[in-house]
Amino acid sequence: MPVIKFLGGAREVGRSAILIESNNKEKIMLDYGVRFKEEDRLPDKTDLDNLKAVALTHCHIDHSGALPLLYKNSSLPFYTNPLSLRISDILLKDMIKISRYPYPFGYKELDKLRQSAKFLRNGIRQKISNDFHITFYDAGHIPGSISILVEVDGKKIFYTGDINSQTTNLINPAKSSEIPKIDALITESTYALKEHPPREETERDIVDRIVNIIENDGNVLIPAFGVARSQEVLLVLKKYDLKIPIYLDGLARKVCMAYSEFPNAFKDFSMLKSAIKTAQFAKSRNRMSILEKGKNIIISPSGMLKGGAAIDYVSKIVKDPASAIYLVGYQVEGTPGRKLLEEGIFEFEERGYSRSTKTKALCEVDYFDFSSHADKSDLLNYIKGIKFNNSRYVFCVHGDEKSTTSLASNLNKENYNAVAPETGESYAI
Ligand SMILES: [Zn+2]
Ligand SMILES: [Zn+2]
Repeated sequence: MPVIKFLGGAREVGRSAILIESNNKEKIMLDYGVRFKEEDRLPDKTDLDNLKAVALTHCHIDHSGALPLLYKNSSLPFYTNPLSLRISDILLKDMIKISRYPYPFGYKELDKLRQSAKFLRNGIRQKISNDFHITFYDAGHIPGSISILVEVDGKKIFYTGDINSQTTNLINPAKSSEIPKIDALITESTYALKEHPPREETERDIVDRIVNIIENDGNVLIPAFGVARSQEVLLVLKKYDLKIPIYLDGLARKVCMAYSEFPNAFKDFSMLKSAIKTAQFAKSRNRMSILEKGKNIIISPSGMLKGGAAIDYVSKIVKDPASAIYLVGYQVEGTPGRKLLEEGIFEFEERGYSRSTKTKALCEVDYFDFSSHADKSDLLNYIKGIKFNNSRYVFCVHGDEKSTTSLASNLNKENYNAVAPETGESYAI
């Protein structure tokens, strides 16, 4: 019987890492991420002897951040696709560069990771070792994101990674009907307790509010994650054909340039290209003049205002009653974005930098739900669309304690064999 061991991302979001071991003790790793807390940033330590390969679902740091650690003394095959490799490389370099936390790896290991990449197309079954085959499937979460089917010892295990079963402007959704009959499912549970508002409604809302601010001579800052969210917002603005200057800054700019090299990863590549063309790229030296001119939309990371180019804009916009800051991503507790949203105070501290500040917000601040994760009903529908052999094992991961355990108990009511594993636990299936 194969054994699944959860090394992180269990009853938490962060440091996703799943080890699967065959009868003959061959092993493969699915994702190897970090989490942004002071302690236990890396996946749990375990015996990695006879590890045959690592496969990555997508570039987000909570799935990819610790990958270089596996390349200290090895050249393990790294299964991914060209787009995920390209963006992971950008994000990992950025993480190593700006981190205050001393990661036990650096650019040297990152180079080895890049050199060990083996590209796999979706739907193509690949032999990994004597005991393992894997196949990638579209996950609909961000461009390049995939779910992984693992075949080992006559069993089929399906790991969703992060999924979205709703179409976005950027990419096509995940479809559970494409998955063959499986024995065990490892599913994300991020929004197992929440329903997102209809996307069209959110899009209309944000566009109306932007138009209103611009008509009153203000600026709109949209702090967005540089990967996928910035480009999704750009596509929404393109769809409504607003005749308002749009500026892209920071990592969002870099990712746009990288995306332009991967025509097949998008729902409508020509639309994405023309959306990118409508935006101007901002640089640090012209940030203040963009704000002084007024009547501009600025899309800039970081999405939770923890750093990045957005900070230069916020510090000024926050004091302007005519302007607005529209957050478009989930704001984790303890981040400046969450504090701004809940208390109307922008508090930012940067060691050795002049950008530290604590200011009461005079501008408008609001949040628009542009999540790229399946919500409660999407998750249940997606899981119900998967065909199982007898066992019906489901492991609920990538969500807080409440989300993972309640998804598991809801599934158990429907005759699944579901559990919310804890980090460090192993299950034979
Ligand atoms: Zn993700
Ligand atoms: Zn994730």
